[in-house]
Amino acid sequence: MSAAPRPTARGRSRAAAGAGFKARARGLVLCVIDALAPGPLNEALALGVTPTLAQVIERGFHTNACVAPFPSVTPVCAASIATGHSPAQHGVPAMCWFDRDRDSYVEYGSSLSAARRVGITRQLTDTVYNLNRSHLSPAIETIFERLDDAGARTACTTYLIFRGRHRHEPRRDDLLTKLAAPLMRHAVLGPRELFYADIFASRPLPCSSLLGMPGVRDRHAACVAEHLLAEELCDFLLLSLPDNDWHSHRGGPQAQIRSLAAADARLAAVMAAAGGIERFLERYALIVMGDHAQTEVLRTIDLFKAFASHRPRRPGRPGEGRERLAICPSQRAAMLYALPGPPAASTLRSLAARALALEGVELACHLDAGDSGDEPEAVIVGARSGPLRIRPGARWVDARGAGWEIAGDRRALALELSGGRVRSPQHPDALGRIWAALECERAGDVLLSAAPGYEFLDIGGQAHPGGGSHGSLRAEDSLTALIACGLRRRPQEREQWAVSDVAELVCAHFGV
Ligand SMILES: [Zn+2]
Repeated sequence: MSAAPRPTARGRSRAAAGAGFKARARGLVLCVIDALAPGPLNEALALGVTPTLAQVIERGFHTNACVAPFPSVTPVCAASIATGHSPAQHGVPAMCWFDRDRDSYVEYGSSLSAARRVGITRQLTDTVYNLNRSHLSPAIETIFERLDDAGARTACTTYLIFRGRHRHEPRRDDLLTKLAAPLMRHAVLGPRELFYADIFASRPLPCSSLLGMPGVRDRHAACVAEHLLAEELCDFLLLSLPDNDWHSHRGGPQAQIRSLAAADARLAAVMAAAGGIERFLERYALIVMGDHAQTEVLRTIDLFKAFASHRPRRPGRPGEGRERLAICPSQRAAMLYALPGPPAASTLRSLAARALALEGVELACHLDAGDSGDEPEAVIVGARSGPLRIRPGARWVDARGAGWEIAGDRRALALELSGGRVRSPQHPDALGRIWAALECERAGDVLLSAAPGYEFLDIGGQAHPGGGSHGSLRAEDSLTALIACGLRRRPQEREQWAVSDVAELVCAHFGV
């Protein structure tokens, strides 16, 4: 394991002063159900298998127009949810990316095979330590940091983004954690109460996740939440229920009806521990949301094979100096890094053209700095369209109120332009999401989005044909549900919500 810089307990004294926190009267539970897809949710509600969610919706606010960032994969979405920022600001570009400074791949856990290719130690170090400490921009604050500074008692079950102001040492008190000890040696900064797999636990609770095994993670999260709420130990809890994503990857989006019913039962158990739904809602506001959705996968795209003549950099191996490309698949999105970089405009165009010639690649996007003095533009090319060029401006206003200059072939994103408004229902909030993805400093030179039914093989050669996946710009991957009840201020209706909006809902509830 590489040496991990030691965290400092900045803000601890401020956070320790939480006893007088003014919002103690009503706390907030933010429940993130990974991959919560509106279609299966509506079916589950109609079938009556998610009665807890039905009751919350009946009393509160519900939209299915909440859009994920691009790529619509969990690390990027988690960073947006926990900070309120886009990838351009929070710095987490994808599930898999190439670190030019370190000259190696970063993989947060697409599959066990992908983790093996980069090295298990490297993968765990990046996911548990580096993601929060250095990949997530130190220049911005998480909701935990903001609430810790305000004196709220914060808490989090296992979630990719947990950075807060409180120092936590890894556990060493049972067989599993002793086995993990050589890999998990360092302390982290998290919320006041942090329960991360079995590695970090801010107090002894009878809850085990078998080191975060898929399929038992919701049980662990609910167990932790039941204890925290029964004993009134937190004002804000991020309750992460990730198993829905795992079931949906394996069985396809339709499998969510069962896994959403299971998540609903976990939520009901948490409410029961707080005295039942009525008592729970007296004491806590509740937000339930997804981070992205999922769509079915029928076929796969092998970028390493397609770009073999570029001598792609091999994961987990030192560079040989002759590689011309790093390839970073992130499920239904992918990024190409020209090596050694920075690439000429002609290289970007030829990489995009070559990728678009592959069956299943729907869109290729890259920046074009233009001639000196020109404003940079994003160029988006579709498999069956000419280039579309966009940049921030004032001519066309999108569904989130951002303004754009647009030129070229609007068919690439099926743009609808009229009366000064630009809409892109097939690829919701396409312009803002593409721009933020390309402006992310660590992003690849060319970003790819897959057509419906296709997924890129990850760097371990794995994908989910016959199941489900996500990552693309398409609505079916990107739109998720946002449900809220009991917030100090009811959310105002908006044409287009984003998962990043939740950070402000949370902070506004606490007056922060
Ligand atoms: Zn997933």
